[in-house]
Amino acid sequence: MSNPSLLILPGDGIGPEVMAEVRKVIDWYGENRGLNFDVSEGLVGGCSYDEHGTPLTDETMARAQEADAVLLGAVGGPKYDNLDFSVKPERGLLRLRKEMDLFANLRPAQCFDALADFSSLKKDVVAGLDIMIVRELTSGIYFGEPRGIIEEGNERVGINTQRYTESEIDRVARSAFELAMRRGKKLCSMEKANVMESGVLWREVVTEVGKDYPEVELSHMYADAGAMQLCRWPKQFDVIVTDNLFGDLLSDAAAMLTGSLGMLPSASLGAPMANGRPKALYEPVHGSAPDIAGQGKANPIACVLSFAMALRYSFDQGDEATRLEQAIEKVLADGVRTADLLGEDGVTPVSTSEMGDKIVEAL
Ligand code: ATP
Ligand code: MG
Repeated sequence: MSNPSLLILPGDGIGPEVMAEVRKVIDWYGENRGLNFDVSEGLVGGCSYDEHGTPLTDETMARAQEADAVLLGAVGGPKYDNLDFSVKPERGLLRLRKEMDLFANLRPAQCFDALADFSSLKKDVVAGLDIMIVRELTSGIYFGEPRGIIEEGNERVGINTQRYTESEIDRVARSAFELAMRRGKKLCSMEKANVMESGVLWREVVTEVGKDYPEVELSHMYADAGAMQLCRWPKQFDVIVTDNLFGDLLSDAAAMLTGSLGMLPSASLGAPMANGRPKALYEPVHGSAPDIAGQGKANPIACVLSFAMALRYSFDQGDEATRLEQAIEKVLADGVRTADLLGEDGVTPVSTSEMGDKIVEAL
């Protein structure tokens, strides 16, 4: 049998720097666990624009469609700020998400014990936290029609439409239930069914899908109450499923429970492929961080954790994913810190590359 394929798109700014550390981890798995991938690389974002005049070529798009998983670094940077909207680096990423039809965005909020002091919240609120937010990514108010700014009488009106079809809700709900089955078997769905029709339908469809997952304990919350509960006692949750707009807000809020942007992975999943695994794009939550690019300061953990998610959700290697997460936990417990993770206590930060080496060592 051929090896599973992984397309790596390092992108711009710190993307290539953090991806170099993931390559060390991938090599380690090949050499020590007999876990080999057909790794190929491609260009996305500003670097692709520089080379080909477009942030994503058709050829790279086609390779992404065929790969078992895509791992992306980050795109963009000040160099490209004045480009025409149609060729901006971010358009490359948006095209990937759209053409791969990645409708479920998974954002874990996980707190490594060693960093619990670092959170904006009290230690007992976040220590041991491990929740997952599933955000619908391809529909809702960001895409609904009609939209635009129109003239009405003597003033202008800005219009967006929140719109969800049953099938759009059904498929993201199924992703969330599947995930809950692999985790703590608890799912909380968040909407505003008290004031929004789309919320009423959302609650109805999620409840219906839930009948196929009798083992999962399903609850519903209004999104505003959910935001409050997320800050008050986040450990009450396991998996949260919500729409595009609420998910945008809730996942950013949840992210900050755990500390630094440099720690946060994400996955965007689509429909199952012929092999039964979903189409998938993995990427750190952070951007290209132009302010620290090229200085060896970037924290590679978010990108390494994104690869751990690929191991778990695309390559059926949940145990190996856990091994990698535990290696990171150990490195942090040993006090190894990149600059973004430094508290007050005057520890000398390690470089991007040293952090990668420490993770491999811990493996
Ligand atoms: P984007 O528009 O692509 O989301 P952004 O400017 O909003 O980009 P980032 O590029 O993520 O956000 O950077 C935000 C801040 O966080 C910057 O100061 C950056 O240096 C810091 N940062 C982001 N990622 C990391 C990382 N992996 N390690 C250390 N610092 C990081
Ligand atoms: Mg940003």
